[in-house]
Amino acid sequence: LFISLEGGDGSGKTTVMQELGRVLEEHGVSYIATREPGGIEIAEKIREIILNPKHTTMDARTEALLYAAARRQHLAEKVEPALKQGTCILCDRFVDSSLAYQGYARGLGIEEVMNINSFAINGRFPNITFYLDIEPELGLTRIAAGQGREVNRLDMESLQFHQKVREGYLIVADMYPERIKVIDASRTKDEVAAEIRHQLSKALKE
Ligand code: C5P
Ligand code: MG
Repeated sequence: LFISLEGGDGSGKTTVMQELGRVLEEHGVSYIATREPGGIEIAEKIREIILNPKHTTMDARTEALLYAAARRQHLAEKVEPALKQGTCILCDRFVDSSLAYQGYARGLGIEEVMNINSFAINGRFPNITFYLDIEPELGLTRIAAGQGREVNRLDMESLQFHQKVREGYLIVADMYPERIKVIDASRTKDEVAAEIRHQLSKALKE
């Protein structure tokens, strides 16, 4: 089973990752929690390049290609071998991030970004994707209130950019209605956790 978790900045992904892990443990499912971009050394290095606040001249297409390259390596080195062994993969972000951020918000086009990612993922999609949907106003307020978060290049983006990311995610969710579950993340942590628990338990029984 391959599960991915998606959401804009401040949507509560980190907390939900932990909840998903707990649910898998309770069901006796062996799993690996990982993240994108990153999860393995080569991809973590690509992540540093992409997110470095000094890299203000990075071209949008270069950014999209680097995300796709990091994704390929992470798949080849970690995700595919685990799935082959029957180990579940729980991944913080996957291809839908690229479609929403680079494809829609950066304006490269969802279809164009899907094309380079088709090459990278070579047919591998998650079985189930949870998208944490929240108005960016609220998400960004949560970030401002939080502590100890890594500073990255995206912190300089406008509210308008994050609104486009959300619009992008909602378009992508409509493209893959079977796979992507849209979760209202504006509710309390406990309410979101309860829905996540319910949806994943249901998926595990299928
Ligand atoms: O998921 P995480 O918060 O660690 O992502 C790091 C940063 O990279 C975030 O600011 C996120 O918005 C950004 N990002 C992006 N395009 C992607 C994936 C993540 O701009 N495809
Ligand atoms: Mg984060």
